[in-house]
This record gives sequence, C-alpha cells and structure tokens, in this order.
Amino acid sequence: MKRWQRALQDNYGTPTIELVSGKGSVVKDSNGNTYLDFLAGIATNVLGHGHPAVVKAVTKQIATLGHVSNFYAHPNVLELAEKLQKMTGDKSARVFFCNSGAEANEAALKLSRKTGKYKIVATNESFHGRTMGALSLTGQPSKRNPFKPLLKGIKHVPFGDSLAMKRAITKKTAMVIVEPIMGEAGVIVPPSDYLKNLRKYCDDNGALLVFDCVQTGMGRTGDWFGYEYSGIKPDVITLAKGLGGGLPLGAMIALGSASTLFSAGDHGSTFGGNPVATAAGLAVIASIEKEKILKHVDEVGAFLLAELALIPGVTEVRGAGLLIGLTLEKPVAKAVTKKCQESGALINAPGESIIRLAPALNVSMRQAQKFVAIFSQALKGVTHV
Ligand SMILES: *Cc1c(COP(=O)(O)O)cnc(C)c1O
Repeated sequence: MKRWQRALQDNYGTPTIELVSGKGSVVKDSNGNTYLDFLAGIATNVLGHGHPAVVKAVTKQIATLGHVSNFYAHPNVLELAEKLQKMTGDKSARVFFCNSGAEANEAALKLSRKTGKYKIVATNESFHGRTMGALSLTGQPSKRNPFKPLLKGIKHVPFGDSLAMKRAITKKTAMVIVEPIMGEAGVIVPPSDYLKNLRKYCDDNGALLVFDCVQTGMGRTGDWFGYEYSGIKPDVITLAKGLGGGLPLGAMIALGSASTLFSAGDHGSTFGGNPVATAAGLAVIASIEKEKILKHVDEVGAFLLAELALIPGVTEVRGAGLLIGLTLEKPVAKAVTKKCQESGALINAPGESIIRLAPALNVSMRQAQKFVAIFSQALKGVTHV
C-alpha cells in the first residue's frame, strides 16, 4: 500500500490486496490467499484467467508479429472485424477498433458529428467512460462536476423513461446513447419496451441510436450483445471490456447508413486493432462458441438470481446472464465487499446498498454455489454486528 501511494496517483484510492496469479475464476494474492473472482477485472475476463486458447493465441501472435499500426492490414484485424460483422447480423456493418470503452464511445461521438448535427441525448447515472467526450456522455454528477466545462449540447434524461426520451429527442438530435443495462450504476434494467421505443424516436427524428455494450456485450447477458432481446438493432454498437478477454481492445461498430459516415482521415488509433489484442478477441469468440458458453451463462445466471434472492438482507436481485445487481436492505455494501474479500470472494459495491457481480462467463456451477455460501455468510456477518 505504501509503494502504491508513493508511485501511483490517488485517482483510484489505494487497493488493499495485490494479485499475483489466476486460473479460471480463482485468483491468488501476494500473501498466498485465494479468492473466487466474481468481478473478473470488471466484467472483462470473460473466459477467466489463463484460458489456454487465449494464452496460446496471444503467445503465438506476439512471437510472430507484435504491432503494425493501421498503415497495414494483418490477418487478425480482418478476421475479427468479419466475425463481429457477422454477429451483428448486418452485412453493411463496419468496425473501428480501439483500446477501451471510453475510446469506443469517443469514436461514436465523432461519428455522430458527421451527421452534420451535434445534439445528443444520454441518460442520468449512465457510465460511458472518463475521457472528456465520454465523460460528457456519462450521467453521473460526481464524476462530471470536477471537470466542467464539458461538451455542449448533451442532455441527460432519466434512464428507462420512454416519455422523457420522446420529449428530449428532436430533429436536431445527432445521437442517442444508452446502455442496454446500466452496469456501473448498479445493474439497472430498463422496462422491456424501452429500447424498442428509442429505435422509433430515433427513426422519426433521423438520430443515430447508439447502444453502449461495453459492459453488456460479448456474452455477458447470455447474448452476444446486451440489446438482442429487444428485437431491434441500433445504428452503432460500442464494445470493450469482454472483447479482448483481458487484453485492452475496444470497437465501435456502425450499422447500415451509419457505417459509411467516416471517411479516410476522420479518425484513428495507433494501437487500435493491434495483432495481439485481436488474436485474444478471436480466441474469446471461438471459445465462447466451442464451449457453448452463452447457454452456460443463462444457466449459471438463473441459478445465481434465484439463490441470491433467498438470502436474508437482500431485497432485490436483477440483471441478465452473468451481470447481476443486488440491493441490500441496509447500506452495508462496502462492508460486505470487505467481508467477502476476507472470506475469499471478490465483488464490487457500486452504491451504499448495491452489489455488482460479473464473474467470468465460464465460472462453474460449483463455484457459483460456493460463492452464494460465502456471500450469504458475509452479509450475515455485517448485518448482525
Ligand atoms: C467500463 C465502461 C466504459 C468505459 O470503458 P473503459 O475501458 O474503462 O474506458 C464505457 N461504457 C460502459 C457501459 C462501461 O461499463
């Protein structure tokens, strides 16, 4: 902790444990303690730690060709773009690769400027990243206020409120951005017709509909993309977190007529589409398909939703697949997170009474059972003091 404070900036606060190795959903710290990893690098390590397919693909690629920039093509960037295009079900989809979620949303923001308009509608409590453009989209005052002035022309409305969106979207709106399920806000699920309504309002006003699937993409919800249940398609999908299976990789995918808004010279990233990161992305997709992980996500997710709801002190359990939010009866989320860590499970508390779980998508049913036992004991421990 002292070394962290002496060498790193204070933007994260100081972590209390140092992780040194991991296998699947188990990580080990520098004191030899092991933990069930139910946060997975913030919804990132979709195949857990050290998955053989990712290790093999990355090792082979770094030994063959490490980085080339986008002045040159290479096999992985082409193959991964084709894969993602296929997953969107839209042959006209075109992919831009970057390295993080914030960058994917920055790219969407710039793409929307190419419509000739600049006004944007986003939602309260949303999280779209920390860079100035992405932060301007983010709907959390505590993150925004210290950095004002932010971008102009962005209106925030309550999440899940179709009427508020209908009122806010006009012919002047360039884009509307929402998370299919708000992740950082505590796993907030909108009403089932919300995304469909947004599609209609955007169509009526010629606005781009952007789904920030950075957290809800890549199988997290049991589908490839978190919006699929709605039956509609957005104009833009942003991805990161799970895409690289633990390596930094992001993407902004534009569909239909949005796919040709950028022309040569409009945007770029030196590392975007890097051979090693895209090798990891290809290994992630191939393994999810081969190991039938999407079905597994539904099964383990349903088990966790049901079991967690039975724990005394839990008032609500929500989410989709393996993105799960819990509301606690008492504001003990930080304390229960600490207690879980002491008892061998890593989780996250996005609010005073809210817990977020986002384990690896291949977490086993046994590990899920073990987690429920640890969590339930931890909650009992902190609420009975
Ligand atoms: C994490 C997250 C981001 C930001 O991603 P970074 O890689 O941290 O820049 C953006 N949108 C959503 C929905 C996220 O969960």
